[in-house]
Amino acid sequence: MGERILVVEDEARIASFISRSLRHEGYQVEVAPDGETALEKAFSDPPDLIILDVMLPDINGLEVCKQLRLSGSDEPVLMLTAKDAIPDRVAGLDAGADDYLVKPFAFDELMARIRALLRRTAPPDADDLLQFADLQLDPATRQARRGEREIELTAKEYDVLELFMRHPRQVLTRDIIYDRIWGYDFGGESNIIEVYVRYLRAKLETEGEMRLIHTLRGVGYVLREE
Ligand code: CA
Repeated sequence: MGERILVVEDEARIASFISRSLRHEGYQVEVAPDGETALEKAFSDPPDLIILDVMLPDINGLEVCKQLRLSGSDEPVLMLTAKDAIPDRVAGLDAGADDYLVKPFAFDELMARIRALLRRTAPPDADDLLQFADLQLDPATRQARRGEREIELTAKEYDVLELFMRHPRQVLTRDIIYDRIWGYDFGGESNIIEVYVRYLRAKLETEGEMRLIHTLRGVGYVLREE
């Protein structure tokens, strides 16, 4: 079973984006829409990590964090702060948060922070080599190889390929790919995914290698061997 994450966020759209995506990554997720509920849940059944929005309808996130720390809770807290609210970030860290993320954020950024925070309390495995067929990805160095051949990828190309490598033989819809790589604020009307898949195929298949990223027309894409 994956680690348990408590998401404290009153904006339903963002709470649902975060929890849906985290579940898809294998985490167990609970959502609290306000500070009171968050404290109840955190005290009755402590999660492995808390994602805590600063702006909540009742007790604000800073106060929630202070109360958690005062009561001896030491689970990692990732604070979500409004854009440019620098005093909030400082106050968040002062209140006992371990890290903060500025809204709006992309899903891969959120995942990176979560993995880093969980790594402090768990044995490292998020940086293990990813392997599929003759394709290898090293999350620690962000290097890609196909067989003996090194492949130069841009940052976004790497992110897209890593998403496929973490979900081999699993169909990834266009919506999921948008959510993970570009974040919830990204308008889903462009052909940016098609463009990146084309770039990746060009780089992965320069030696006439077998196609690994396949198109499922009208559905999305899948990493598989045929
Ligand atoms: Ca909020």
